[in-house]
Amino acid sequence: MNIASWLERTARLDPERPAIFLGEDSVETYGSFHAKALSVAGWLRTHGIAPGDRVGIFMKNLPEYLIAQYGAWYAGAVVVPINAKLHGREAAWILKDADAAMCFTSPGLHGALSNVCDMPCVDVTGSVWATAIANGPLETATPRDAEDLCWLFYTSGTTGRPKGVMITNRMLVAMALSYFADVDEVTGEDCALYAAPMSHGAGIYNVMHVLKGARHVLPVSGGFEEAEIFALARHHGRVHMFAAPTMVKRLTMVATASGESGEGLRTIVYGGGPMYVADIVEAVDHFGPIFVQIYGQGECPMCITALSRQEVSDRTHPRWEARLASVGRAQSVVEVAIADENGLPLSAGEVGEIMVRGDAVMPGYWRNEEATAKTVVDGWLKTGDVGCLSKNGFLTLKDRSKDMIISGGTNIYPREVEEALLTHPSVIEVSVVGRPHPEWGEDVVAFVVAKGEMDTAALDAHCLERIARFKRPKDYFALTELPKNNYGKVLKTELRKMMEDM
Ligand code: ATP
Repeated sequence: MNIASWLERTARLDPERPAIFLGEDSVETYGSFHAKALSVAGWLRTHGIAPGDRVGIFMKNLPEYLIAQYGAWYAGAVVVPINAKLHGREAAWILKDADAAMCFTSPGLHGALSNVCDMPCVDVTGSVWATAIANGPLETATPRDAEDLCWLFYTSGTTGRPKGVMITNRMLVAMALSYFADVDEVTGEDCALYAAPMSHGAGIYNVMHVLKGARHVLPVSGGFEEAEIFALARHHGRVHMFAAPTMVKRLTMVATASGESGEGLRTIVYGGGPMYVADIVEAVDHFGPIFVQIYGQGECPMCITALSRQEVSDRTHPRWEARLASVGRAQSVVEVAIADENGLPLSAGEVGEIMVRGDAVMPGYWRNEEATAKTVVDGWLKTGDVGCLSKNGFLTLKDRSKDMIISGGTNIYPREVEEALLTHPSVIEVSVVGRPHPEWGEDVVAFVVAKGEMDTAALDAHCLERIARFKRPKDYFALTELPKNNYGKVLKTELRKMMEDM
């Protein structure tokens, strides 16, 4: 099966149904979206792209993203989505690693890439693209097998060099089933709003919305601007969107300050990084029951656990806050287990590495057998995250194993220290890392974005009231902002580098 056949199905059923919007304006119906994607597929075929070839997309969030993506899929190609914030050279590195045959780009990025890479780069606002979307179309989507690759997703490299995660048609079907079962229903009346980069989860999460004939809305700003998100939600209604925790926090801050109610926002799926309890409580207080949490990683896209709308919102539940501190229960298409350092299973309450197996787990990394062998063992994906399961199957993530601090032989989870510091009214953002220490191995250091001047003594006293003495930071550094990638994740590697220079 070809995952893009879901577009074909919807387009045949209801070609006049509005499909893609730029802001408030309808730009494609399902019929025209399908026809243009088939044309792009035909054009790719006449330019030598065979099923299984890799085609890059190095583009901002634009309507053409969806057409290029489904066009490449219709041709049977494997899409290589590239984060639009990357430098042209970094994008070229990914395209070379993927052995891609061509790349679709958008203005601004086109020059940055075509100057440093020798493969054909097609600007989706240029004349070549105009020819491609008016080309003699393929008749139908190229048949593919469930195990064939459709998406080659490069990890963002927050913990090392990017690796190409191989994502198959089967994995996306599993992800979609799991979404309907564990995350949310989708109907033809719904609207997917793309506030997060389509080079990440949003680029594959759209398959559910395509299958159900929902509307796809691309913000005119091309990204995440709170006022525009609220205006589009109000205009379109029944909006679903994926938002990183930092985006949820910003939406809450802006809405609280401006009295914005968030009318039209139906579901915000959050995940991709730790959501601190205080932040989600504030968000639920303000917006009501619109939040669902997911925990996933490229290697098992969007699909390890989910904390349902009911679980996120039900403040009458005696363990509400504990649940909010968790990432929920295993999604229906996977099994989750905790293992010790020898790979042996641990019981409820014991802390170890989170392991996953099931239909949504990757077959491996692209042309990287060594990394694959280290990561997928006997069908179990080693996530590199540390956590524990409760008796009822709720998973609590402690931290990434690479971020865990070992001080005097004891494990300290930065997230716990961050949670404690975030409850101090002067702290806007914080990130905690380990610093090499001659006696203890590592000690704890906090980088803080504070309101006004940072008061180290007050923060220390605050920690002493909340967490064990040995866990509290030995040093605090004030920053005006934390270094983040464009998915909003704090780059702890950058913080560690900063410490070396201090
Ligand atoms: P790299 O693997 O190169 O370091 P990355 O961190 O961006 O890149 P992703 O696949 O984007 O890789 O992110 C997956 C990681 O994000 C998970 O392993 C986990 O550490 C974190 N994460 C995802 N969802 C959640 C969540 N709901 N709560 C806390 N952390 C999460």
